Amino acid sequence: MPRELLVQVSPEVAHHDEQLYPHIAKLIQVPVQDIQKIVVIKRSIDARQRTIKFNLKLHVFLTGEPLVVNKVELPNYPNVENAQEVIVVGAGPAGLFAALQLIELGLKPIVLERGKDVRGRRRDLKAINRDGIVNEDSNYCFGEGGAGTYSDGKLYTRSKKRGDVDRILQLLVAFGATPDIMVEAHPHIGTNKLPQIIQDIREKIIEHGGKVLFETRVTDILIKNNEVQGVQIQDGSTIHASKLILATGHSARDIFELLHRKEVLIEAKPFALGVRAEHPQQLIDSIQYSCDFRGAYLPPAPYSIVKQIGGRGMYSFCMCPGGVIAPCATANGEVVTNGWSPSKRDQATANSGIVVELRLEDFKPFAQFGPLAGMEFQKDIEQRAWRLAGSTQQVPAQRMVDFSQSKISSSIPKTSYVPGTQSVEFGEVFPGFLTQTMREGFVQFGKSMKGYFTNEAILHAPESRTSSPVRIPRDNYTLEHLQIKGLYPCGEGAGYAGGIISAAIDGEKCALKIKEAIG
Ligand code: FAD
Repeated sequence: MPRELLVQVSPEVAHHDEQLYPHIAKLIQVPVQDIQKIVVIKRSIDARQRTIKFNLKLHVFLTGEPLVVNKVELPNYPNVENAQEVIVVGAGPAGLFAALQLIELGLKPIVLERGKDVRGRRRDLKAINRDGIVNEDSNYCFGEGGAGTYSDGKLYTRSKKRGDVDRILQLLVAFGATPDIMVEAHPHIGTNKLPQIIQDIREKIIEHGGKVLFETRVTDILIKNNEVQGVQIQDGSTIHASKLILATGHSARDIFELLHRKEVLIEAKPFALGVRAEHPQQLIDSIQYSCDFRGAYLPPAPYSIVKQIGGRGMYSFCMCPGGVIAPCATANGEVVTNGWSPSKRDQATANSGIVVELRLEDFKPFAQFGPLAGMEFQKDIEQRAWRLAGSTQQVPAQRMVDFSQSKISSSIPKTSYVPGTQSVEFGEVFPGFLTQTMREGFVQFGKSMKGYFTNEAILHAPESRTSSPVRIPRDNYTLEHLQIKGLYPCGEGAGYAGGIISAAIDGEKCALKIKEAIG
């Protein structure tokens, strides 16, 4: 059995085996040559003191001890070509992990995705960045891999079930992600690495008899006597099955509208909305690490901050160290921001959503839309921002201190947001209560993180797709829709996940429940 140790070491020792081995040998009082191998199980940074340390959880194997290193392998997937078919709408993390799980359980997934495969999608991302053209089926939110494909690929989650999280991380490693994601306290994959992993997942699904159809938008769900019969796609053709996993994400407004029109029960759901703030990465490093330059062994610093402002939570969301702000609109006539990072997080700026929690009563001006009130509230802000910034994919921008003082910024420097910015006073973009909360909030943030509240920080508006504005209610046990048999609302769009890992876990859960129902 290996010895399990928790140690705190300097960044240099953490990064060099020739320093780590003697350090550990001295600690456990054995000659260094008696250590066969040290395996790092968990790694995190402790930046609370001026001298930054790495916390390491280690397994130390002495010479002669059996070396047990967990090998990560894919499950033994059967061929499901002739098995019972299950329709999976959406090839985001929820849909793809549902499909893999269905295959493992001996069922045949038919994955229908409105967007293009990861390669085809790249051209459309170029078009939105360079020319401001939004392809309403292929963009940062829609297409193979879903909203997570061109993201920072942060893999942390608030999910309490460690086993479920580890299983998804193991599958990602088996599909080519670096094994470090199993070790780091705050793992991430990066935009440059995710597409290949997603493509390999798709190829595995097809290799084992599943189907994945791109540019296939579901336009209707066929329901008879409150039971799912199948779906209709955009060319009018139909695909039949009695079980359907609906994993269309938080931006599929047409799906929410379709369900409402068909009188399938959906509910308005509170979410959060605000801006995307961009600081020089070096400034964030100096705040977080209390030093001018972070040196060779520390990664670009992340931050996480939350405050209560007038009874509402205001917090950082999807923070991307060394990242880029992306145009994430899914329709023409609107602007939306979010962020991504390459695996090395080596860009010059740090960006983060800074959002304020919304309540159902905030959607009152849109009450005539019933359960779609939150979605209309969100759409209204995105469309106003589009108009105020010149009706292109440029976004309204304001310097942080100027915003807090209600002053239009006289100049906005070039930021990482490629389509560009227009100087706009954010009081014109957001409803009064949101503007007020954010004005006060940024001042408070500056008190906790000295240097954060600065005119060097550029705010971009809006950050509006933080989670779904709608919940599609399902039975807690069977995970089936409360009214419609065979319909499994799944992932972030249905209101049961927030992020890549929790969406993937929810996809697996729905697949397991379908197997249970089929027997
Ligand atoms: P989605 O990923 O939204 O997938 C839904 C899929 O359904 C899409 O591919 C869509 O095209 C398809 N679809 C929609 N309507 C239809 C239809 N009618 N017919 C057929 N197909 C349809 N999360 C993290 O955990 N870490 C991060 O670092 C991170 N960064 C992000 C960065 C960006 C730029 C964005 C946009 C999101 C980021 N997220 C991140 C959020 C994360 O991507 C989502 O939480 C996650 O992808 C949700 O998974 P999902 O499968 O439920 O839905």
